[in-house]
Amino acid sequence: MIPLCVPNISGNEGKYLARCVETTFVSSVGEYVDQFEASVARATGSAFAVATSSGTSGLHSALYASGVGPGDHVIIPALTFIATANAVAQCYAVPVIVDVSQDNWCLDPDLVRDLLENRCDRDAEGILRLRETGGAIRAIMPVCAMGLPADMDAFRDIADTYRLVLIADAAAAIGATYRGRPIGQAGADLSVVSFNGNKLVTCGGGGAIVGQDLEAGRRLKHLTTTARVGRDYDHDIAGFNYRMTNLQAAVGVAQMERLDEFLEAKSRIAATYEQAFCDLQGVHAFPVAGWAKSSHWLTGLYLPELSLERVAELRGSLMANGIEARSFWKPIHMQAPYSCAPTHLNGKAEALWERILPLPCSSHLTAIEQRAVITVVTRFFAC
Ligand SMILES: *Cc1c(COP(=O)(O)O)cnc(C)c1O
Repeated sequence: MIPLCVPNISGNEGKYLARCVETTFVSSVGEYVDQFEASVARATGSAFAVATSSGTSGLHSALYASGVGPGDHVIIPALTFIATANAVAQCYAVPVIVDVSQDNWCLDPDLVRDLLENRCDRDAEGILRLRETGGAIRAIMPVCAMGLPADMDAFRDIADTYRLVLIADAAAAIGATYRGRPIGQAGADLSVVSFNGNKLVTCGGGGAIVGQDLEAGRRLKHLTTTARVGRDYDHDIAGFNYRMTNLQAAVGVAQMERLDEFLEAKSRIAATYEQAFCDLQGVHAFPVAGWAKSSHWLTGLYLPELSLERVAELRGSLMANGIEARSFWKPIHMQAPYSCAPTHLNGKAEALWERILPLPCSSHLTAIEQRAVITVVTRFFAC
């Protein structure tokens, strides 16, 4: 089976892991966590990076530290991995699910503006509230869909106008750029990256919160490491135990040494698919945007003109030929835990998700494997 997207563990991972074992620094103390945070800060152009146990725990911490609390509302895109919404729910807050742009599959800034302008009111204290629920809108959390940054200038402008916190779910976007700037400089107050197994760079599992405000970074480090004051068991707030272990960071440091190589491979794989399928009727590549360079976390096909039966047939044909093919993120408002959440939709996410077909794109996918994928797809459309 040619897998969709699996870790490329062929660098110094084993060596660094062995060093953790030899020195017995396997847990929360050790050199690799500091090294990993420094390399993530550097790669994202950020003043700080706080490593966390997962991307989801990083998102939860970023929202919590930004003051998102029970009953508050956070605007998120309809088309994303469920972790985006879960992080909001973990704050006992409510996601407000807004549709995505057809052009780039990211949160649609015009729809967000429309929601804030036409469905929200400021109360006597100046707090912006969604009329139907009375919940205070606190934050906007755009997602870098497939590794492509959303239009962050538009969201920075909205966040400033309406005095909202702007947090980027940049889970799959390490190495991506927005208007030539790395994602830590794209305009969000905080951005969160994931190092889960299927991401561009992996720690096995893990995440990082990055930003420019060093004081915020210090508070986040404190919050995510049980808020311990000094060396004794003194804790000044109810903190989280979300720190990354030295074992995870050891893998991460080895992975970060190869970030440029991974990005190059991902970009080459995307370009090869695009070139191979450009003449196929009704077959499109994943979107690009003038303002950004994607990390090309996932690459594949967008099939707007095919019937859903044909899309399923293509998926079946790939699987029958030993090529992993799965359906993609089901929109958040169609998921059981969020079926009652407030929405501002125009049908884009619902129309998109079943027509998105990711193709194998691990950074170590061989030319022969990619050729095999291309052959199966091309043959499918030939008949
Ligand atoms: C992977 C992912 C996450 C969650 O990261 P984990 O490290 O798996 O917790 C959040 N949002 C998006 C868009 C993702 O792709």
